[in-house]
Amino acid sequence: MKTQVAIIGGGPSGLLLGQLLQRAGISNVILERQTPDYVRGRIRAGVLEQGMVELLRKAGVGERMDAEGLVHAGVEIAANGQRVHIDLAGLTGGKTVMIYGQTEVTRDLMAARQASGASTFYEASEVALHGLDSHQPWVTFNHNGQAQRLDCDYIAGCDGFHGVARQAIPADVLKVFERVYPFGWLGVLADTPPVNEELVYAAHPRGFALCSMRSPTRTRYYVQVAAGEQVQDWSDERFWDELKTRLPQDLAARLVTGPAIEKSIAPLRSFVAEPMQHGRLFLVGDAAHIVPPTGAKGLNLAASDVSTLFDILEQVYQHGRTDLLAQYSPTCLRRVWKAERFSWWMTSMLHQFPELDAFSQRIRDTELDYFLSSEAGRRTLAENYVGLPYEKLV
Ligand code: FAD
Repeated sequence: MKTQVAIIGGGPSGLLLGQLLQRAGISNVILERQTPDYVRGRIRAGVLEQGMVELLRKAGVGERMDAEGLVHAGVEIAANGQRVHIDLAGLTGGKTVMIYGQTEVTRDLMAARQASGASTFYEASEVALHGLDSHQPWVTFNHNGQAQRLDCDYIAGCDGFHGVARQAIPADVLKVFERVYPFGWLGVLADTPPVNEELVYAAHPRGFALCSMRSPTRTRYYVQVAAGEQVQDWSDERFWDELKTRLPQDLAARLVTGPAIEKSIAPLRSFVAEPMQHGRLFLVGDAAHIVPPTGAKGLNLAASDVSTLFDILEQVYQHGRTDLLAQYSPTCLRRVWKAERFSWWMTSMLHQFPELDAFSQRIRDTELDYFLSSEAGRRTLAENYVGLPYEKLV
C-alpha cells in the first residue's frame, strides 16, 4: 500500500488532519488501534477555542457544531463564596468559546471521513514506524491477522500520550519535560440541566470544582480528588454532596443532581516532548504534549498542531515548499509552551496542594484575588482562555 501521509491514531488529531488533507487532495491513511465504537465513546474535552471552531468549519465539519454548540462569551470563577464573571468577549475584542463535546467533534469527523471514502484501518495492531530519516518512510502493522506495509512520504504521529510514534524518536534526540500533580479530577456526566449558563471554576479549601456542560440538558461536573482515589469509592450521592460543599451557596442551592451516566478519575499532568519532528515524522496533539485540563487546552492544542502541519503539507504538495517542514516543531512549541504555562498557572491558582506551606498558600490566594479584582488580570485570563492566535507561516 502507498499513500502520501500515513496517520497513526484516529482520535481528534488524526481525524481532523486526515479530513483537511483529504479536502486538499492529499492522500492519507489512518491506522487506529481501537474500534470505531470505542473511539466514538470516549468522554473528554468540551470547550473549543475560536481557532479550533474556525478550523472545524474549514474542514467542512462545522455544520452540526454551529447548530447545536453553545457559544459562551464568559466564564465564572468562584472563590471564598464570591462569584466573579470573566467577560471573555468584552475583554478580548469579541472572542468567545464554543461548548461542543469532543465526542461530537469525533463523531462529525468520523462521518465526514466515511463519506469521503478515505481509508481507515481500525483495530490495527503492532504499528511500527520505519525509515524516518529516509525519503521513503514506511509503517508496518497487523490487520485482521495479516501483516501489512504502508509506504508514504510523511508520517503524522497522532496516537496520543501512550502511542508508539513518540517512542520511535531516538532517546538521545528527544527531550522530555514533565510535572505530575498530586491530585486528579473525578468527573461525572449527567443528564441534568446546567447549574449556571456559564462554566464555573471554583476554588475551595476542600479542593477545586468545575461546573461544565455539554448541552442545555447534559452536564459535566468535576471535583479535585487526591492521587490514588478510586472511582468505586465515590457513589453518586457522595459526589454531589462534595460538589455542593465546594460551590457558592446560591449555586449549590439550585444544583440539579441525577444519576451519573459516566464517572471517571483523570490524573493531572503537564508534559512536553521536544522536538515535535524527527526526519519525516511529525508528532501531533497528545503524542507530544499533555496539559492538566484546568485551562481547557488539550484538545485545542491538538487542533493548533493540526493546523500548522496541514498548512505546511499543503505548501509542500502544492508549491514544493519543503523548506517549511523544519518550521513545524518550533512553531508548534511556541504556542504549546504558552498553553502549558496557562494550564499550570490556572491549576496552581485554583487547586489545593497538600504540600504548600502557610506562606505559599497566602501568596496563591492573593494571586487569585489580584487576577480576579484587576481588569488587567481578568484580561490576561480571558486572552489565554479564548486561545492565543495561530501563528502564520512565513
Ligand atoms: P487521543 O485523543 O489520545 O487520540 C489518539 C488515538 O490514537 C486514539 O484513538 C488511540 O486509540 C490511538 N492510538 C494510540 N496508540 C496507538 C497505536 N499504537 N496504534 C494506532 N493507534 C493508536 N482536554 C480538554 O481540553 N478539556 C478536557 O476537559 C479534557 N478532558 C480530558 C479527560 C481525559 C480522561 C483525557 C484522557 C483527556 C482529556 N482532555 C481534555 C485532553 C483531550 O481529550 C486530548 O487533548 C485530545 O483527545 C487529544 O487528541 P489526540 O487525537 O491528540 O489524542
